[in-house]
Amino acid sequence: MESDEELFAPNSSLLKIIPSLIKDLFYYEESSRLLSRFLQSDVSGLTQQRIEGLNPALRSLAIDEDKSVMLTLMLGRLFIDAFEMLMDKCVEFEVCVEEIENKGELVQNYLSGDFNSKVPILVTAKQKMSPFPSSKRVNEEPIDAVRHRVLINELARLEAGDQEASPPDFGIYQVFSVDLKSWYCNCDEYQDQMADNSENHPEAYRKEKGEFSLKSMEEIISQSRGASGLLLDILTSSEIPTRHKSPLPLCSHLLAVIICSYNRKIELYRVK
Ligand SMILES: [Zn+2]
Repeated sequence: MESDEELFAPNSSLLKIIPSLIKDLFYYEESSRLLSRFLQSDVSGLTQQRIEGLNPALRSLAIDEDKSVMLTLMLGRLFIDAFEMLMDKCVEFEVCVEEIENKGELVQNYLSGDFNSKVPILVTAKQKMSPFPSSKRVNEEPIDAVRHRVLINELARLEAGDQEASPPDFGIYQVFSVDLKSWYCNCDEYQDQMADNSENHPEAYRKEKGEFSLKSMEEIISQSRGASGLLLDILTSSEIPTRHKSPLPLCSHLLAVIICSYNRKIELYRVK
């Protein structure tokens, strides 16, 4: 049994609870069954007719409902945004070498925390721009509305016989660079957490709280005794020791890439 101290230590939720919730978060289900379950509020007989017309052999991506509820309660907007990016296939791994056949395999290695490949892999997450800063977006489109939109698109895709979902081409998107190896993203959401938010404090305080509060990954992990698994492997596999703020910053883009890591068997991303 873990003590309260261990459970509430900084980074405990990231290192212990979140991995158990995002592991096997997605699975495949018969498309017509999935669509009828979630689009039943569309009382129009037309939608029902369209669903009934689908080939029963078709499968669509489904999310574990219990885990999705827990993640939304714990992470709110962060999770909803990550979910939306994954459903729209907005996470992309670019293998930076021409004429190579095993790009998919190199990406799988990267996602399993093996960063030894000599071929650089650039990871980007494309996100629809919101008129609101992330902290003000809590009440924006709830996860049910996102899922409803995703499944309406899925129905249209299946009817059109598309094998692969294309990202929606409406709206304005912003592209962010994510690096799992150094636990980094160039978005404001991440950068704001790295900043000290202490403009109002004297310089001595800022120094103490800012520069000197950066910890090595080993220190961060030792505070969360009992943490184990893939995320820990990813965080400790960097050859270049980096210092991080604790609690570790987390943005929707890093979260989306970690979800890809923990659900590697499912194609939640694109390879270029
Ligand atoms: Zn980010």
